[in-house]
Amino acid sequence: MRRLLMCRHVSNGSGYSKHSRTASLTAFFSHATSTTSEIADFTRVLTASGGVSIKTLNASSLVRQATELHNCSPVAAAALGRVIMGTILLGAGRDYNEVTQVRLFGGGPAGVVCAEVTTDENGLMGVRGFVENPSVDVPTKDDGSHNVGAAIGTEGVLRVQRSHPSWKQPYSGVTALVTGEVGDDLAHYMMVSEQTPSAIGVGVTLLNESVVGAAAFLCAALPGCTDVELDALEASVLKLPKPSALASLNASDVAESLADDCSLATPGAGAKTSTRQRWDESVVLRCNCTGASMAESLALALGSTEAEAARRDGKETEVKCDWCGRRHLVLPSVPSASEIVTP
Ligand SMILES: [Zn+2]
Repeated sequence: MRRLLMCRHVSNGSGYSKHSRTASLTAFFSHATSTTSEIADFTRVLTASGGVSIKTLNASSLVRQATELHNCSPVAAAALGRVIMGTILLGAGRDYNEVTQVRLFGGGPAGVVCAEVTTDENGLMGVRGFVENPSVDVPTKDDGSHNVGAAIGTEGVLRVQRSHPSWKQPYSGVTALVTGEVGDDLAHYMMVSEQTPSAIGVGVTLLNESVVGAAAFLCAALPGCTDVELDALEASVLKLPKPSALASLNASDVAESLADDCSLATPGAGAKTSTRQRWDESVVLRCNCTGASMAESLALALGSTEAEAARRDGKETEVKCDWCGRRHLVLPSVPSASEIVTP
């Protein structure tokens, strides 16, 4: 006998803020369709002064693939795409195998929207995400844009969890949702929980209910950032082109442009420019679910008595991974203590 059971793997996260600026940003990308995981382009720049961290992301193909995987409605696609990109921005540059998970629950009809990112031993970032109600539908805003804030809601929190296999326990930061539009909420989190002044933009563009553009940026003022440099950064962010005008730009160009503006505002910038650090990386859609992990999750969901009975009878159950939609036919296994996690 086969049954369909929904299981969600839960990993574990941390937090610092003071001054924030939010903006929206989208860019178009190629319309490639593929059975393999799509790749997003990510660039990270640390200015010559060391005072500003700039992260930019062009994730159109990756976000489109993720939203198609979950059969997302347009507003669900916008919400999931924004959360996936925000998670990449917060999770980039961390240690290998460290997991950064961002989870929003605002009481709206979309339910939980969640994503997590980790960098493997080869230095490749992988991200996965889901929206609890992918068919959510809410009226668009007066300007015709998708009302992500109404779908997610504001009666709840944003939680960032960071975990690593070598840590005894995860670290978490939780802040109240501001607008449910994701970008505002992430900026508020950076301000309140991580004490890091930042400007964050996340944007998803849809055409005929399909994602055609997805891009994001995060500019953070680090300890040592001068007021002059911060002012230059703010001005530069505000000068960013409108989404439609960013169609021909890539992530590295946007990051370098922002860093140039900060450097020009810093006395002696010309001499320091050669010390600017830059990393160009790729991000793939990746889920680590396995038959073994699903068997453990199934056992936890069933409870010890029912799980033991299923094992004894050899009764396999079809379990669907919420993160990627993959279905596994498994027998419930005996969960290890490390698998018993709290959502
Ligand atoms: Zn999976």
